Amino acid sequence: MHVLVCEDDELIASGIVAGLTAQGLTVEHVGTASAARAMLKAAQFDVMVLDLGLPDEDGLKLLQQLRQQGFDLPVLVLTARDSVTDRVDGLQAGADDYLLKPFDLRELAARLHTLLRRVAGRSVNLIEHGALSYDPSSRVTKLAGKPVDLSRREQALLQALLHNRGRVLSSEQLKDSIYGFGDELESNALNVHIHHLRRKLGNGIVETVRGLGYRLGHADGTEPPQP
Ligand code: CA
Repeated sequence: MHVLVCEDDELIASGIVAGLTAQGLTVEHVGTASAARAMLKAAQFDVMVLDLGLPDEDGLKLLQQLRQQGFDLPVLVLTARDSVTDRVDGLQAGADDYLLKPFDLRELAARLHTLLRRVAGRSVNLIEHGALSYDPSSRVTKLAGKPVDLSRREQALLQALLHNRGRVLSSEQLKDSIYGFGDELESNALNVHIHHLRRKLGNGIVETVRGLGYRLGHADGTEPPQP
C-alpha cells in the first residue's frame, strides 16, 4: 500500500512514517499542500493522510480541490480541531475518515487498512484469491492454507495486485506501490520481485500483459477465479 502523508510537523510526520513503514506500508512524506499536489501528479497512491493545518494552505481547501479535480483516493484527515463544524466541513470537502491528534500509530494503520477495504468493497479483513489468502493487518500470506514467507517488497507487490484485481498495472505503477521515492532502485528490481513472487506462489500469479504491464493471475494449483 502506497501512502502519502501530508503533515508539516516534522516530529509527528517522522513518527507516522516510521510507524507505517514498520507496518509494511510504503510511505512518502510532504510538508505542504503544493508538495502534496506535485506528489499526487507524479505517482500513484492508494491512500492519503492529510493534516488540516498546513503552512501554505488549509488542508480542507486542498482536499476540496483534489476532489474537484477527480482524485478519488481515500483520505484520512488528521486534526487537532475537535469541533462538530470542522467534522462537517471535512466530510463535505471529501474526507473519508478522521483521526484526532494525538493518536496511536497502530490505530492510524488500522484505519488506513479499513479505508482501503471499504474502497475495494470488502467487508472482511482477509483478502482471498483462489488458493491464496492475504491478511493486510497481520501481513500473513497463505497458499492452500500454508503460510508463505514473503519479503516486505514482495508483500507490497502482491498487495498492489490484489487491490487492483482485473486491472493491468504498468511497471511504473507497481514500482510506485513497492518503493518510496528515496529508495535506490536497480533497473531490474521489479522483475526480480516478480520472479520471486512467481517462484513462491506459482508462475501464474503475475500475468505479463505485453506492452502494458502486469495483472493478478491465479495462484499455483488453482483454476483462474470465476468472474
Ligand atoms: Ca500542522
